[in-house]
Amino acid sequence: MRIDAHVHGMDAVRDAEGRLQQPITSSWKTGAITPEERINEHKKRGIDRVVQLDPANVCAETKKLFGDFVIPVPMVRMHLTSPEEIDRILSDGAGGIKFIAPAYSYGDNRYLPLYEVINDHQALAVFHTGFLAHNFFDPGCALGGLDVVDITHMRAAALDRISRALPSLKMLIAHFGNPWWEECWKMIASLKNVYADFSGGTAITRSMKMWKDIFCPNGKLDANAVSKLCFGSDVDYFLPENCFGYTRYIEFYQRFFDELNVPRELQDKVNSENILRLTTKK
Ligand SMILES: [Zn+2]
Repeated sequence: MRIDAHVHGMDAVRDAEGRLQQPITSSWKTGAITPEERINEHKKRGIDRVVQLDPANVCAETKKLFGDFVIPVPMVRMHLTSPEEIDRILSDGAGGIKFIAPAYSYGDNRYLPLYEVINDHQALAVFHTGFLAHNFFDPGCALGGLDVVDITHMRAAALDRISRALPSLKMLIAHFGNPWWEECWKMIASLKNVYADFSGGTAITRSMKMWKDIFCPNGKLDANAVSKLCFGSDVDYFLPENCFGYTRYIEFYQRFFDELNVPRELQDKVNSENILRLTTKK
C-alpha cells in the first residue's frame, strides 16, 4: 500500500510573460481515458491513493471524478483566507489545509488563528518549505500573494514556533525544507507531531550519502526520524495523457530504504500509514 502525500492536478493559462493566470482549473480533460482507467494505471504502478494539494475548487472537481482515490488537502491563499473559510473547507470533508507563499513567516502570530481551526478539527497542516518555483505565486500571477515571494518565510524552523503554540497540531513539511535539510531533520526528530517528505524536484537529486549522514549517522539508524517521513512526489496524477512522473520517487524511497536498511514496519509507515493517520480526523 502506497499513498502519495503530495500531488497536483491543476492547470492555468500563461500570459505573454509566461506567468500563470486565473482561472485555475483541473488538469483532467474528459476524453480518451476514464477516471477508473487512470486510477488503474496508477495502482498498477504502486500508487493506491493520493493527497491533492490544489485550490479547493480544483480539489472538489477532481474528488467528484476520482472518489476515494483522492484525499483533498486544499491550498489556501494566506492573505485572503480566514478561520471561517478553513472551518468550512474542513467541514466539507478535506483532510487538511496546504499553506504556501506567506507574506510573513509561517510562525507569525497573525497566522495562528488559522492553525487553531485545523487543530480543533484534528486535521493536517501541510507547509510548502524552501525554494518556490517562479511564475505562480509572485504578485500578478494566478496565486500571487501580498508581496514578492520570500522563501525564508517558508523555513522548516518556523514550525518550531507553531508547535510550541499548538503542540498537538499535525504538521507536514513538504520538500524537506529545500535547501535547509539539516533544519528539517531537527524539526521532525524533535517535534512529536511534525512530519516531512522528499517531494519536489531537489531532495531526490541530493546524494544518498547526504541522506545517510542525516538519517543514519555513523551507521546507526535514526529510527525515530525515519518514522516521521511520508512518501511524496509533487507530480500531476490527472493528466489525460500517460505520464507517471512519480516512478522515480518510488525508486528513490526504495533506494533510501535499502541503503539504510530500514525495517519493513518503518517502510509501511512512510509509504502509507503516516499520511493516512495524519489526514484522518477524529
Ligand atoms: Zn507541490
